[in-house]
Amino acid sequence: MPAPSEAHFAVILFGPPGSGKGTQAKMLQESLGIPHISTGDMLWEHVEAMDSLGEEVRAVMREGKLVPDEVVNRLVEEQLSGPDAATGVLLDGYPRTIQQAEKLVRMLELRGLEQVVIHLKVDYNKVIDRLSGRRQCPRCGTLYNLESNPSRVAGVCERDGAPLVVREDDREAVVRRRLQAYDEQTSPVLQYFARGPQRFYEVDGNEGPPEAIGAKICRLVRDG
Ligand code: ADP
Repeated sequence: MPAPSEAHFAVILFGPPGSGKGTQAKMLQESLGIPHISTGDMLWEHVEAMDSLGEEVRAVMREGKLVPDEVVNRLVEEQLSGPDAATGVLLDGYPRTIQQAEKLVRMLELRGLEQVVIHLKVDYNKVIDRLSGRRQCPRCGTLYNLESNPSRVAGVCERDGAPLVVREDDREAVVRRRLQAYDEQTSPVLQYFARGPQRFYEVDGNEGPPEAIGAKICRLVRDG
């Protein structure tokens, strides 16, 4: 029987673009059995749906800049208010500014969730190499990587045969701007959590296969 406290964590996962954060988030979501809130995924869904919010944030996202705090705060609050999030949550890509962090801490305290911060650290040169090799199917969204996860049929999607493309925000100039934005805007947020009462861990995202990194994070969240 799982420990009753197991489902009551709010895991706040940090990592620069291309750090493998998305992969870790999926693994953690499964192993801890908590819903995954990714502001990036939510925003992309709005862009793809071409709704009014999608139209509003599209240009900002394409430039690799941050979407306004009030927009992402509102999206996260909606998710945290749902029944799924009552017993725990995994936050990915949020918060990225002090204003978002302060808002999040208030929301989590209200809900009585224990905050555990994980910072996935990686070498930026490796990030640039990894992201410039990333390819996506424009039809179904499947991601590939020329080095680590190539399509079985070169240049086209295995699932539907559509020609693969470089996602706009994976282009090298955009990646560099995103890494710079990550440093400038997220470092103060990391310091905010490092000084706060939250449990805070740094994990080397370059060391070992994703499964081993995932197992390590899971141990830290559960056992400290
Ligand atoms: P990555 O993790 O590689 O940056 P995401 O899919 O998480 O990619 O985010 C894509 C884009 O969505 C970001 O570049 C930014 O424009 C926007 N975004 C996502 N999360 C936030 C956030 N918490 N605050 C502001 N903008 C965000």
